[in-house]
Amino acid sequence: MTAKPNILVIGTGGTIAGRGKAAVNTSAYLCSVLGIDEVLDTIPQALALANLRSEQLLQTGSENFNNEHLLAIGKRVANVLARQDVDGVVITHGTDTIEETAYFLHLTLKSVKPVVVVGSMRPPSAMSSDAALNLYDAIAVAAHPSSRGIGTLVVANSEIHTARDVVKSNSFKLEAFRSPYGALGYVIEGVPRYYRRPSRAHTLDTPWSLDGLAGLPKVDIAYGYGALESDALASIAANARGLIFVGTGNGNVASHLLSTLREAARRGVHVVRASRTGNGIVLRNGTQPDDEYGWLTVDDQVPQKARLLLALALTQGCDTNTLQAAFERY
Ligand code: ASP
Repeated sequence: MTAKPNILVIGTGGTIAGRGKAAVNTSAYLCSVLGIDEVLDTIPQALALANLRSEQLLQTGSENFNNEHLLAIGKRVANVLARQDVDGVVITHGTDTIEETAYFLHLTLKSVKPVVVVGSMRPPSAMSSDAALNLYDAIAVAAHPSSRGIGTLVVANSEIHTARDVVKSNSFKLEAFRSPYGALGYVIEGVPRYYRRPSRAHTLDTPWSLDGLAGLPKVDIAYGYGALESDALASIAANARGLIFVGTGNGNVASHLLSTLREAARRGVHVVRASRTGNGIVLRNGTQPDDEYGWLTVDDQVPQKARLLLALALTQGCDTNTLQAAFERY
């Protein structure tokens, strides 16, 4: 019999660490009140999958996570992955921004060891909570050799998603996690089954590592609509190094906002057109002459992940072609 893998479970808070007054409280409850050991105590079955150790890194809702939280999580995970006595890491996390933390790790960790980010839509105290099974499945995925070398994963509802693609797409249903091209695989009774692999570069194949990275360049997001006033847009762009402009449809920009965005680009702000549809591709030089304006487009990435990708890319330089290439490669 082979030895069980050693999995470190890092707690950061969220609904998976929440508690409601009664079992019927599936949506109204306190977040981030259970310690990671209390959460793990609900799934003694996981001890059959791996040797588990735990650590409480943060204890807060993921809606609060800023660049410093991401760097703290990333540096801690990078540090523990380098240890020989750690075979994989599970991070319990709020679901609101689970995709951002997961994508940030996917782009920056330098390891083939599995890293799985997991949350739940209902706290462990609620009727039909998804907390126990999601965490059990996440440990199963992190403990399994078939999960090595495919980047950071998000596990929910028996599905394994790549961090690049997954988004939270519903505010209360258990089936909230969606990847536009589908999940990578399933977990069934503690065993992952994969059907495809991520095709875009990640982890060891990116130029970004967290070693010595003290902060991220300021990249902001502006949500576009016809009544958005140019002053409001200009103030968002004022101190940013990059601006993800979330346009309508194919990254469309209302006519009265064009001069504000062009002026921002002239001042050196890296303007990136995204789409508020949440799906599909923003075609470069499609609805706007991006080459002429010196703008970028997100390819198919959602604004919140485009923000992280641009921030990381800006740590290495600000050539427009190189930045655009990052959106096509990762
Ligand atoms: N507010 C919570 C969070 O993201 C929601 C959740 O965990 O589902 O931390």
